Amino acid sequence: MNGECDGKCNSCSQVNECTDPQKEKWEQEQRLKQKISKIKHKIAVISGKGGVGKSTVTVNLAMAFAIYKGANKVGILDADIHGPTVPKMLGLKGQKLQANPTGISPVTGPSGIKVVSMDFLLPNDAAPVIWRGPLKMKAIQQFLSDITWGELDFLFVDLPPGTGDEPLSVMQLIPDMDGVVIVTIPSEVSQNVVKKAVTFARRLGVPVIGIVENMSGFICPECGAKVDIFKVGGGQKIAQDLSVPFLGSIPIDPEICSDSDKGTPFIAEHPNSPATKAFTEIVKKIENFLQHHALKEEVAK
Ligand code: ADP
Repeated sequence: MNGECDGKCNSCSQVNECTDPQKEKWEQEQRLKQKISKIKHKIAVISGKGGVGKSTVTVNLAMAFAIYKGANKVGILDADIHGPTVPKMLGLKGQKLQANPTGISPVTGPSGIKVVSMDFLLPNDAAPVIWRGPLKMKAIQQFLSDITWGELDFLFVDLPPGTGDEPLSVMQLIPDMDGVVIVTIPSEVSQNVVKKAVTFARRLGVPVIGIVENMSGFICPECGAKVDIFKVGGGQKIAQDLSVPFLGSIPIDPEICSDSDKGTPFIAEHPNSPATKAFTEIVKKIENFLQHHALKEEVAK
């Protein structure tokens, strides 16, 4: 470094002698880019707030893509730093990440899904992540730049809930996201936070693939009557209001909850349920989005 460092180490003549911390950051970014270079599509799943089913949607979308697209080609990055639940939902609790000669291997889950989660780093369930502020992001960046994903068709990133610093920092770490899927529930309270999630994506320049309305009505297993517990249709309305696509509605199904607790992915266990049909319709819309997006980029070249 010659005192006027612009952070562009690749064009710097003094890169070999440089000891500036910026160089370390740049090297890490290059490692991260290289490690994810063989991933065709990266999709982030976000929610304006917690508890709306973001991880449930991530896991079941990833499973749907793995089942329809072939095993070993789908990955999940569970970046929900303080409440990682993906390993539990996929029956991978207690597994640990293994080092390999070029980095760290993801854990392989059902249908060959490659999973990386903060949960694999914690010694036990009661242990919280104690990294704070900038240190936390530095640790995450370092960790991510070591993951050897290999070739993947799809990587789903389960972001921390909300639209604050944490999801923002994780989004900024991963270059070239194809888009975000926003998960909400139908209540009006949740619709207000969806607006924030759309603004969040737009500010980052990442396309909104669309909105998923989860917990959209409940069909009584006894009498077949449909009960709209959290109202219904709010997701579609807010999508229209904000001019973003609506991807579909997933009903409340008690099996979704019990399968998550058992660690058996719902759509694999219940291929004919209305919720699975809703997930497969959403998958088709995501595929359409990706095709159009690729076409648009091709035309823009
Ligand atoms: P988030 O990631 O937004 O915090 P989760 O995906 O962890 O939310 O879901 C919270 C809880 O709700 C979990 O116990 C999950 O099994 C349950 N759940 C999510 N979606 C549904 C649904 N459509 N029907 C029934 N239970 C659901």
